[in-house]
Amino acid sequence: MNSTIGTPEFADTLMVGRLDSFGVAVRYTRAEGTKLYYVDDDGAEVAVLDGVSGFGSLMFGHNNPEIVEHAKSLLDQRIPVHAQMAGYSLALNVATELNKIIRRELETEDKFFALFGNTGAEAVEIAIKHAEFDRVSRVAALKADVAAHVEQARAAAAGGAVLSAAAAAVAGGQDIERLTAEVARRSAEAESRPPLLLALESGFHGKLVSSVQLTYNPMFRAPFAALAAQTRFIPREQPEMIAKVVEQDRVAVLDLVVTAGPAGVIDVVERDFPVFTAFMIEPIMGEGGIHPLSAELGRALREACDAIGVPLVADEIQSGMGRAGTFLSGTQIGLRPDYIILAKALGGGIAKLGVVLINEHRYHGDLEFLHSSTFGKDGFSSGIALKVLEMLEADDGAAYRQAAERGEKTIAMMEAIRADYPDCVKEVRGKGMILGFEFEDQSGSASPAVAESAKQGVLQLHIIRHLFRKHRFRVARTASSPWTVRFEPSIHLSDEDIAQVDVAFRDVCDILRSGDTSRFE
Ligand code: PMP
Repeated sequence: MNSTIGTPEFADTLMVGRLDSFGVAVRYTRAEGTKLYYVDDDGAEVAVLDGVSGFGSLMFGHNNPEIVEHAKSLLDQRIPVHAQMAGYSLALNVATELNKIIRRELETEDKFFALFGNTGAEAVEIAIKHAEFDRVSRVAALKADVAAHVEQARAAAAGGAVLSAAAAAVAGGQDIERLTAEVARRSAEAESRPPLLLALESGFHGKLVSSVQLTYNPMFRAPFAALAAQTRFIPREQPEMIAKVVEQDRVAVLDLVVTAGPAGVIDVVERDFPVFTAFMIEPIMGEGGIHPLSAELGRALREACDAIGVPLVADEIQSGMGRAGTFLSGTQIGLRPDYIILAKALGGGIAKLGVVLINEHRYHGDLEFLHSSTFGKDGFSSGIALKVLEMLEADDGAAYRQAAERGEKTIAMMEAIRADYPDCVKEVRGKGMILGFEFEDQSGSASPAVAESAKQGVLQLHIIRHLFRKHRFRVARTASSPWTVRFEPSIHLSDEDIAQVDVAFRDVCDILRSGDTSRFE
């Protein structure tokens, strides 16, 4: 097998070294449909079923012929790829098409304004920026409110109003100036605190400076904690924790109220300061091990966001674009997000495009001036995205139905394996073409060889290598759920492909059950 690609000198030296030492570093030379191809030592082309599938970008497969033809035609037509500051761009058409689909699925007439970037993480960063702009606006509104009340209180005091017992306690006596100084001090103190984000444990939202702080895995997040706003993580199974966390981080400022009376009484009240910027979730958690959120959690998240006044942001970068059988995976649990983030498959597997769609009731147009990127709305990527949306919507949504049908067939195959090997397969999760096949933790295996390898954390690597070398099936485990193999192939997954996966997984289970690890290739 032509798997040795040497040690690169200037990039990926460690990464390739590690993959190579495990015999899974490959120089693929061709990619088509559900397959990647390499040339072996005898010069023969070998097909590998791609279960990694660009971690979700290849909804329509590698080099989908319709998308490739469209890409060629865009370039042949000499479409303007970069025409910044011209006003019109193809990105406007992408926003229009996205609105048609999203408004249909969310059953709303509300508009969703689009802000474009290049990648998933970049779109997440744009969402954070927009949400922070929103929070700062809420802070400004609160300050304006309090400032107006302070002026009213001053006027009332000049007219003979007295401070209530509570207000006098804050001021240390009947002193309106000391009271207003304390109001100002508490407000400045609240404003100086960095904002906080909310997200779910095991979530993944990218690896850029801010987005990585929403990504749960501390390996990615912790070294860069000092650079950006911090996140409070909520366990998926305990939505009641949201209220507790919010209470722990609650910051109150002081406001003044003049109550009616002959001369008036100036009272002091607490008001919640906007501490939180946004609540970011994946309706189907991808890197965390393919966990679809329940409708109940979806409702709890919506209620919590309404109570705190923060936007609910659905990161559909991996789960959206039809992969789960509906354009937005959250639609299946009735999720009503304020922002929706899309990327990956939006670029048809050949272009890079990310977008945040923001409900008109929460939208700040200022971001159109405050945020930009050279390639953020380029004509080529936008043209590809339009084609992808057209393909998804064609034949009354045949692609969504295909994703759902392929998913049902694949899940049935996986569940049958689980029924035959309950000691090896823990759970099958997901919807449509976003699936997780979770092996049982083998550290308690009756076989000492299997148990030892599991305890050392290398068994999964043996499994992945075996699937690749023996079965020509390429998979990766999820970063935060080490026993889960993620399966996110193209919706054009064939019955033959499903049969190949069946044979491959059964073989692994057979080895695990037999305890004969020497059978791993
Ligand atoms: N959010 C989710 C849910 C993702 O799955 C990913 C990528 N795995 C990202 C954000 C980041 O996207 P990108 O790799 O394009 O930056």
